[in-house]
Amino acid sequence: MYDPKSLVADEFINHEEILATLEYAEKNKSNRELIEQILEKAAPKKTGKGVECAGLTHREASVLLACDIPELNEKMYDLARDIKQAFYGNRIVMFAPLYLSNYCVNQCVYCPYHYQNKEIPRKKLTQDEVRAEVIALQDMGHKRLAIESGEDPVNNPIEYILECIKTIYSIKHKNGAIRRVNVNIAATTVENYRKLKEAGIGTYILFQETYHKESYEKLHPAGPKHNYAYHTEAMDRAMEGGIDDVGLGVLFGLDMYKYEFAGLLMHAEHLEAVHGVGPHTISVPRVKRASDIDPNVFDNSIDDEIFSKLIACIRIAVPYTGMIISTRENETCRNKVLGLGISQISGGSRTSVGGYAGYSTEERPHDTEQFDVSDQRSLDEVVKWLMDLGYIPSFCTACYREGRTGDRFMSLCKVGQIQNCCHPNALMTLQEYLEDYASPETKAVGEALIAKEIHNVTNPKVLEVALKNLENIKNGQRDFRF
Ligand code: SAM
Repeated sequence: MYDPKSLVADEFINHEEILATLEYAEKNKSNRELIEQILEKAAPKKTGKGVECAGLTHREASVLLACDIPELNEKMYDLARDIKQAFYGNRIVMFAPLYLSNYCVNQCVYCPYHYQNKEIPRKKLTQDEVRAEVIALQDMGHKRLAIESGEDPVNNPIEYILECIKTIYSIKHKNGAIRRVNVNIAATTVENYRKLKEAGIGTYILFQETYHKESYEKLHPAGPKHNYAYHTEAMDRAMEGGIDDVGLGVLFGLDMYKYEFAGLLMHAEHLEAVHGVGPHTISVPRVKRASDIDPNVFDNSIDDEIFSKLIACIRIAVPYTGMIISTRENETCRNKVLGLGISQISGGSRTSVGGYAGYSTEERPHDTEQFDVSDQRSLDEVVKWLMDLGYIPSFCTACYREGRTGDRFMSLCKVGQIQNCCHPNALMTLQEYLEDYASPETKAVGEALIAKEIHNVTNPKVLEVALKNLENIKNGQRDFRF
């Protein structure tokens, strides 16, 4: 029985409900009247306090994804852009992954870390190596990391992850600091989630990989990750452990994208129904080539066209949820989807264990790499590229440091205060980046952008403080936030 409030995986991600949704979507894919109604429901509405969006149910959003009327598809893309603009503006938050260990006891058939892969050297960073990696990342200008690790209770127990987090937060190299550590580790216990929360993590990220239980079990034939229910119910345990910001994701290419899309939205509805707050972010990775992995084996790969439509539909369905793409995607694809709803991207990424320290911008070690990186530009190049496209690269980490997590972040979004909070925070952290790390060309473009964008702060008091802070940053002070 489908029940979004249930804590049982098969009930909140219900196979029959997904099949019925797909049938309904297919039946209505040319139903102009219904699609127009759905688009109208999802459109931003002005309220006394600001702008609000109603979002969509998984059934409504699935109809949009199936829609085959070209001009309504165009309307859908325009709506996604409007929603992105209303809640995220032209800011794009920057982050980098930090791979701690590729030891893994699982057998995920798409992942090179699977324990039967004898081609890949196994490596786990020592605390000195973590320090070196973090210094290299700080020297690039990063303030926000996502730590990544294989699952191995002997080599990478929770104590190791916690020690790494402590090391990362302790390093203050020159003006550098990592101010937010997001964590992407395997599903674990409530007790371990509590420990992660106490260690001061930002978002706990766990990709579902696929919501299709039968495929899930085939794709994870052995190891703790084989347990579909334990994996699917992980976010409930994370929230029970006190983590309010959780990040969902599907690895697109493994199963049918329409099925995954419905499952993903049902998961978001479930979190909202049970915990009163939906996912903080949704990631949209696609399967990539890697050691011992041929992506062509997975015959559900999606092209850039469908990928863009998926992103637009996610943006419309869950308007307050951040959306992340990684350097799995190349520059052209990233350009295409940024405006449709992406709010966070990685830059200058290395997906190998120990891939940052000791390597120049051009060099990249491949031996322990998790997957091929398509966007191989440096962070400085990505930052300049974003600004040339009219975006504001943001190194802001203010929300969770100010206690604006979970529903408190959502309410900030909903009352339209982002323009007086996220916007100046983005500009101040960009100013720090320009002072400390940017090339002269990037700095020139950034200075002009900040001078123009600062006047989009509407509250005069906030504007006054922000202008003073920008001056202070130029004079050497750091870490201002609203
Ligand atoms: N080990 C943790 C887990 O199992 O959830 C998380 C860390 S893993 C390094 C991060 C993610 O990389 C996985 O959840 C998976 O979606 C993704 N991934 C694995 N193999 C990939 C591949 N060949 N191409 C693209 N992404 C891949």
